[in-house]
Amino acid sequence: MPKKTLLRVSNIDTFYGGFQALWNVSLEVKPQEIVALIGANGSGKSTLLDTISGLIRSAKGGIEFEGKSITTLDPFQIVALGISQVPEGRRVFPDLSVLDNLILGSYNPKARPKKEQNFKIVYELFPILEERKNQLAKTLSGGEQQMLALGRGLMSNPKLMLLDEMSLGLAPIVINNVYKALRKIRERGITILLVEQNVRRSLDEADRAYIMEAGRVVLNGNVADLREEEEVKKAYFGI
Ligand code: ATP
Repeated sequence: MPKKTLLRVSNIDTFYGGFQALWNVSLEVKPQEIVALIGANGSGKSTLLDTISGLIRSAKGGIEFEGKSITTLDPFQIVALGISQVPEGRRVFPDLSVLDNLILGSYNPKARPKKEQNFKIVYELFPILEERKNQLAKTLSGGEQQMLALGRGLMSNPKLMLLDEMSLGLAPIVINNVYKALRKIRERGITILLVEQNVRRSLDEADRAYIMEAGRVVLNGNVADLREEEEVKKAYFGI
């Protein structure tokens, strides 16, 4: 039987003032999928994640999570329902310790009672964060800061994680470790919608992908099928 839809975005338009950044965008994510958003700079990928997490409101269309509308909810309510966004550039609090950064992730009322359990999960995935828990976040390497950002996201007890450009600026070996962690996160039953600038990598790691151009979804499908699309080959693999 096909799995139910966890997240459904239907025909949304999103504006920044008079500028329309998303045009009639629709997307679906099923439980435990890894879905990638691909597209050139400025094609609207981050705007789509920000609209899902309630940081920006769509002017038209709707967003449902577990069958309920979240279109007009505030970001903190959306986090409490189980959607956690890890923004581009990691944005850890540099002058707080690793531990305090993680604690901030567990602030919503649903996650608070599960704090100790979630600490265990985070430290099992990223033992380095336990070793460095008393260190200031700004003293971590780029890869460790990305792990901290993922760890902070996990502390909110998410069902769905929205990950924006996790591998930006990281060395290839560090990127491999981050993706290894991502697969383990999925094994824990958490669903992932990710924005990735590295198209090859995202097609290797995801189950399905949506390709965006100028604020519109222009193609979507299973990664194996997308790899065979002429437009994808031409635009992203130079074939
Ligand atoms: P990148 O890979 O460069 O992050 P993206 O695909 O995530 O790109 P967005 O950041 O969503 O793209 O931007 C989509 C469009 O919206 C761009 O034209 C961008 O200039 C514009 N935009 C983004 N944020 C704002 C803002 N705060 N105010 C006005 N325009 C914005």
